[in-house]
Amino acid sequence: MKLKSAMLAVCAIVSLVTMLPARSAAAPPADDRVVLPDAVVPRHYDIEITPDFEHLRFRGHVRIDVEVARAANSIVLNAADLSFDRISLAGQKDAPKVTIDVRQQTAAFAFSAPIAPGRYVLSIDYQGKIYQQASGFFALDSVAGGNASKRSLFTQFENSDARRFLPCWDEPARKATFSLTATVRAGDTAVSNMPVETTEKLDARLKRVHFAQTPKMSSYLLFFAAGDFERLHRMVGGVDVGVIVKRGDAERGRFALDTAAQLLPYYNDYFGTPYPLPKLDLIAAPGSSQFFAAMENWGAILFFERALLIDARLSTEQDRQDVAVVIAHEMAHQWFGDLVTMAWWDDLWLNEGFASWMENKAIDRFHPQWKLWLQSQSAVQQAMRIDAAEGTHPIITPIRDVLQASDAFDSITYVKGGAVIRMLEAYVGENAFRAGVRRYMKEHAYGNTVTDDLWSEIDAVSTTKIKEIAHDFTLHAGVPLISAHVARCDSGPRTLALAQTRFGIDDSANIGSQTWRVPVAIKALGGADATHVIVSGAAATRATLAKCGAVLLNVGQSAYFRSHYESDAFAALANRYGRLAPEDQLGLLSDTEALASVGEAPVAQFLALTEKLPPDAEALIWSALTESLLGLDKLYAGRPGRAAFRSYARALLERPLTRVGWDARAGEADNVAIQRAALLGAMGRFGDAVVVAESRLRFARFLSAPSRVSAAQRKSVLGVVAENADGATWDKIHALARAAPTELEKQDYYMFLGDAEEAQLAQRALDLSLTDEVPITLRPLVISAVSGSHPDLAANFAITHWDAIKPLLESDSRSQFVPHLASGSSDLHMAVRLNEFAAAHISASARRSLEMAVASIRYNVRIGTHLPDIDRWIASASQRSGAS
Ligand SMILES: [Zn+2]
Repeated sequence: MKLKSAMLAVCAIVSLVTMLPARSAAAPPADDRVVLPDAVVPRHYDIEITPDFEHLRFRGHVRIDVEVARAANSIVLNAADLSFDRISLAGQKDAPKVTIDVRQQTAAFAFSAPIAPGRYVLSIDYQGKIYQQASGFFALDSVAGGNASKRSLFTQFENSDARRFLPCWDEPARKATFSLTATVRAGDTAVSNMPVETTEKLDARLKRVHFAQTPKMSSYLLFFAAGDFERLHRMVGGVDVGVIVKRGDAERGRFALDTAAQLLPYYNDYFGTPYPLPKLDLIAAPGSSQFFAAMENWGAILFFERALLIDARLSTEQDRQDVAVVIAHEMAHQWFGDLVTMAWWDDLWLNEGFASWMENKAIDRFHPQWKLWLQSQSAVQQAMRIDAAEGTHPIITPIRDVLQASDAFDSITYVKGGAVIRMLEAYVGENAFRAGVRRYMKEHAYGNTVTDDLWSEIDAVSTTKIKEIAHDFTLHAGVPLISAHVARCDSGPRTLALAQTRFGIDDSANIGSQTWRVPVAIKALGGADATHVIVSGAAATRATLAKCGAVLLNVGQSAYFRSHYESDAFAALANRYGRLAPEDQLGLLSDTEALASVGEAPVAQFLALTEKLPPDAEALIWSALTESLLGLDKLYAGRPGRAAFRSYARALLERPLTRVGWDARAGEADNVAIQRAALLGAMGRFGDAVVVAESRLRFARFLSAPSRVSAAQRKSVLGVVAENADGATWDKIHALARAAPTELEKQDYYMFLGDAEEAQLAQRALDLSLTDEVPITLRPLVISAVSGSHPDLAANFAITHWDAIKPLLESDSRSQFVPHLASGSSDLHMAVRLNEFAAAHISASARRSLEMAVASIRYNVRIGTHLPDIDRWIASASQRSGAS
């Protein structure tokens, strides 16, 4: 699954829970893990479903081939929100007694006579619900010309919602084959993991579609959709690759089809095992989820339209790159996750860390100019911030039950997981790493694994062994901080001592005495290539560089740690800042900011670097810097220094903005468009009079004729205007939202309504989010948008109206929604309110998001104490420039 990046941004931060104990590398299943008994296991499911599109329910019939391994009196499987009409087991006279456990989402069928070991067919007639949020079996309505809406059906089962579609063994290790038959409307296209085998016309209105049998796979990967779709497709190396969109959207799917067709041969080669299904569909669903952007169902990947479709009138360069990256992520899962699956949710990172790494690696192969590794550093910074606070957790972390499993989908699993894989690949070398992955695929195809299975295959082919370093970074939480003590020299070799501690933004750094084996690349500027050392243990590690230049740590920034320099060494690097490679410029900037945020470095060091960044520096570094400035600006909300801070930020950003201008120039690099959007967005937020005035001018042009504003400009212009909106402007955007002809546009406009800085308008957006005017799946997004500038307002609103909001949320995100809204708050009262809310509404086993949000609020309060240092620096800087 690909998390929504917006969600990652919101959930960037920490927790109060005591550290989760790291389990040993080959730990047996946790004793308290809540799993199904294993006396009876499924081999094959034959499913027939008949959805009632109008009344949002369905009838189902399933025949399950089961193997009884040990004599048993009952069969226990998963079921949620299903009702049973008839249950029979071949060979058993009487129908079983059924016991439903609502909390554990199980059904137990007790038979009057014991079932002897052997193969049986369990046959069940049942009924279930079709939901209107994206989990389980659900319906999405799309606007279709005028106000009529068209309904289509989809499924989303990760992590544990297949049990809402059929009674089944809904755990990743209970792999089986599936045959699906569905009765749908005669005009519909039906889609599942495998191609349609037969279609039978029932009457003028209905047809029955039978899909080919799947390979052996986990239940969470099963997929079904039906609606008025069209499919564009192409044969790629014997595989029928398709993009499925609602009728009329074919043109918007071309970019996705080209991208998938380009990636498939690359993955076939990389994994050494060809894609094993006859077809691969990428399916676009209207609307949105609070939880995810796309899902890797085997052979039938589900995307929300925003993550798959490119519209020439609407989409920006960032949209194009995001679509390519999400496709690469989900296609990587067709191997890592689908062909080979983690045995239990503890090892979810095997799926998600790997796919998060591979999305960059694969797209970088085809679009090196997008500089995805550099782009990915922003997400790594956010993950490091979570990992540097109380309540972080090891990448591999015990998951007791499926409620906790939803909590595992976080930036530690995805982003730190991906960053650690990148570090390990760099350490053993690209070829050895790939050879290990190929062996792992061959050895475990159609099976389940634990993380050590991967390290074993890599160590089997590599002379450099990976397992110990891998254990340090996956079984223990936290961010290593490598401090360099650099000996003085005038010429000749330079010696240095590297020591490690744990970097923490709160007391988490003092927990235990964790050390890591950290691969550190060091270099003297002006000298030869990087030297590699392993820093381990509590004692300092010594190293010698041939030249006496300024010393740089983590050259290329491929390793997961923070670097700390003493003041002379820092000054030497800062003096050459403009000449560092872009990734090292960004790395130094990020590390300095992080150290300043906890008082380990003067904030002046960070601010001085921002001034040394050349206007023509790599586009993405300016984009990243705008994120830092916007983050600081939020902390200034309601404080007296905000006006001076905004003035400083505007002066800083004006230089690169003047350079790139408002409109794209022929031949400019792709990423300049991303930089321009970031600069304009930040200048709008900081209230730059020129940018706001120009945006309003262009907005007026847009209202007179939308085609007068290019797709590249549209979001920037609307974003600036929305942030700085007065009531009349807000009403104009509201009118655009109501009239928008597609889901993509509706989503944009409704979210812009939530962006207003004016609190009264933000409140209007919140009120609007509970009305029927806003499509159901977009309503929570409007509240999330408000939380960007008004976290307390949004969180209080959600708490007050929880009864109305809860039904709008997917089951997976209910425990996370309010904590995410509040995590930007700088008010300790909000932490108290959150805890009270959780006591009433969040299950005790699913409180990681809550704890992270509370720690985030504490962090925001603490970092607020550094703002006076920034005020002083800005005051003295303006005196300096006034004097010069
Ligand atoms: Zn994923």
